[in-house]
Amino acid sequence: MKKVLLGAACVLAMAAASTTGAMAAKKQFVSIGTGGVTGVYYPTGGAICRLVNKNRKKTGIRCSVESTGGSIYNINTVRSGELEFGVAQSDWQYHAYHGTSKFEKAGPFKGLRAMFSVHPEPVTILVRKDSGIKGLTDIKGKRFNIGNPGSGTRGTWEVIEKVQGWKRSDLKLASSMKSSETSGALCDNKIDGYFWLVGHPSGLTQETIASCDAKIISGLTPEIEKMVAEKPYYRIATIPGGMYPGHPDDIKTWGVGATFITSDKVGDDVTYEVAKAVLGNLDAFRKLHPAFRHLKAKEMIKDSLSAPLANGAIKAYKELGLM
Ligand code: GLU
Repeated sequence: MKKVLLGAACVLAMAAASTTGAMAAKKQFVSIGTGGVTGVYYPTGGAICRLVNKNRKKTGIRCSVESTGGSIYNINTVRSGELEFGVAQSDWQYHAYHGTSKFEKAGPFKGLRAMFSVHPEPVTILVRKDSGIKGLTDIKGKRFNIGNPGSGTRGTWEVIEKVQGWKRSDLKLASSMKSSETSGALCDNKIDGYFWLVGHPSGLTQETIASCDAKIISGLTPEIEKMVAEKPYYRIATIPGGMYPGHPDDIKTWGVGATFITSDKVGDDVTYEVAKAVLGNLDAFRKLHPAFRHLKAKEMIKDSLSAPLANGAIKAYKELGLM
C-alpha cells in the first residue's frame, strides 16, 4: 500500500513539475493578417514573425502569417478576435477607431490598439502606355481595377470617387480583382490600369513594369490636394525615381502609412514581446525588406497612428528608451 501511495505521489510531483515547466513558456499562437502575396504587407508580416519566432523557446509565442484581402479585412478580423494582429492603412485605422466612413455602421472600435507604423504607402497607379491615361482624371471611361472588397485600396478608391464626384459607371469597367491578379490582367490588355496603396519597391509593381509596357502615373488632382491638406491620415508622397526601370524621376503623388495593429483583448505580455522583437532589433528588421530601409524608431511609434498604443508596446518602448 505504502509503495502504491509513494508511486502516486511521484506521478503527482512529476505532473506538477511539468505544469510549471509549461508555465515558464506557455505556448501561445498569434496570427498576423496581411495582404496579397506579391504585396508588401505579406513580407511585412513575415519579417515581424521572423523576429518574434527567434525568441519562441523563451517566450512561448509562435507567430504565423496569413495572406488576406488587406487592411479592412484585417481590422475586422482583429476586432472579431479571429486574428491577433494585422497590417492596415493609416486612413482605415483612423476610421475604425473613430467609427467613421466605412466603419460608421459597425461603430467605433474602441479596443483597437496600435503597435507601430511601418513603411509609407503612396497611391500607385499603373497604366498601359497605349491607354492614353496621363493623370488620375483620364481614368474616367477606362477599364480599371479598383481593388478587391476588404482591401484598403478599395476603400480609398471609394474616397477618390467621392472627392472627384464620380459614379462607378463613369468607368467603362470597374474590376475587383485582388492585387496578385492585376499585373497579368494589365499585361493581357484586359484592363487599362490598376491602382493600389503599397510600399516601394513592391514585387507586383516590379512584375508589371518588367512584363509589359506599363508606367506609373501620379494620383494628384486639385480636389485630392485639398483633401490631403485637411486629413491627418493622408500625406503628399513620392515614389522615388530610379526605383523601377524606365522611371528615372520622382513621381509626386499622395498616400497613407502602413501600420501594425492589434486589440486590447490580446495580452499585454504578447504585445510586449512582439513590440520588443521588432523595435529592439530595428537594424535587423530594416534589412528584411527594401521598403523598410528608411524606418526610424521614433517615427514608427508615433506617426500615422490614431488608436492608442497597446499597453505591452508602451512597456517595451519605455524599456528601449524610446518614450
Ligand atoms: N494597402 C493595401 C491594402 O490594404 C495592401 C498593400 C500590400 O499588400 O502591401 O489594400
